[in-house]
Amino acid sequence: MGTLCPTMNLLWPVFHDPSYKPSLSERLGFHWQANLRMLRHPKDIALFSLISFAPLLLLVSFMRLFPDLFRAVSTPTNPVPNMAPLLFTTLVTFVVFLVLQHLAFVLAINLTYLDHVRSALLDRGIPLCPRCAQLLPPDTPDAGCPECGHSPSLATMNDSGSRDVDV
Ligand SMILES: [Zn+2]
Repeated sequence: MGTLCPTMNLLWPVFHDPSYKPSLSERLGFHWQANLRMLRHPKDIALFSLISFAPLLLLVSFMRLFPDLFRAVSTPTNPVPNMAPLLFTTLVTFVVFLVLQHLAFVLAINLTYLDHVRSALLDRGIPLCPRCAQLLPPDTPDAGCPECGHSPSLATMNDSGSRDVDV
């Protein structure tokens, strides 16, 4: 469909070619399979948690490093503290945190979960390029991917051979 290879979208996870339009039940089905698949890979779960929690750790450390930013100061001459700067810094911190949290979440999905979704789709026989998730032409399944030149037959062997081994 598009000319850009959607391997990594930093703003939103791209699970597959947008021209592949699964129904809701199909989508629930392959995400369920991808979840089960990821549960068998503790390294992916660890990496996912690590990246997802990084912004929260950053937020806590930032608030501990600069506690005065988040404190309304009252003085004897002015016992009612001015709340405006406090509200402003809190709001800015919160927005920055939300943005970082979203980016971290997408990065975590891209680095761990995405592979499992694509493998689940391949297991269901959806002809997707395992590298860039472009829909492959159905008539020439063994030809290289038109987007990235990746050969699907090799990738399927790698996917189900080396990584699906239960430990
Ligand atoms: Zn490709």
